[in-house]
Amino acid sequence: MGHARTHGLVSVIRVTELDARDELHLRRAIELSRQARTAGDQPFGSLLVGQSGEVLAEDVNTEHTERDITAHPELKLARWAGRKLSLEEAAATTMFTSCEACAMCSGAILASGLGRVVYALSAPQLDELRRGSPGKGVRGIDVLAQGDRPILVEGPFLLEEAAAEHSGYWLQ
Ligand SMILES: [Zn+2]
Repeated sequence: MGHARTHGLVSVIRVTELDARDELHLRRAIELSRQARTAGDQPFGSLLVGQSGEVLAEDVNTEHTERDITAHPELKLARWAGRKLSLEEAAATTMFTSCEACAMCSGAILASGLGRVVYALSAPQLDELRRGSPGKGVRGIDVLAQGDRPILVEGPFLLEEAAAEHSGYWLQ
């Protein structure tokens, strides 16, 4: 175990290792980020996993192909959860995502009632990868901290694998 701290109502736990099942799901998110890039979009991917480990939904960034600045996978999956899951189901659902969610998506994650988020790259790590393409300012974790319910946020994990999908992308 690494250290744990409470950031408002957000429990941020940084563990040294994911369990095998969670690692599999996070690898899938990274694989989805590669698919997004191959399709001409930014390399971000996410999935929702239910209480028993079943994959409920997957999505990728489609900002370029849809010409939609809100087409982030985390936002699309939060909307999916709002449509398809009861509040109880949402609370038992984990979002695995190739990068820490941005402020916009974090707002949607709060609204959807998802109980847990596991990410690979952290926002500062992404900023470092995309030198010259600075981040959006407000960090997602600070949005999550303003929520009225606890949400578990775990990361970063699998840094090298996740970063590899961004290799050369932001410097083109
Ligand atoms: Zn986002």
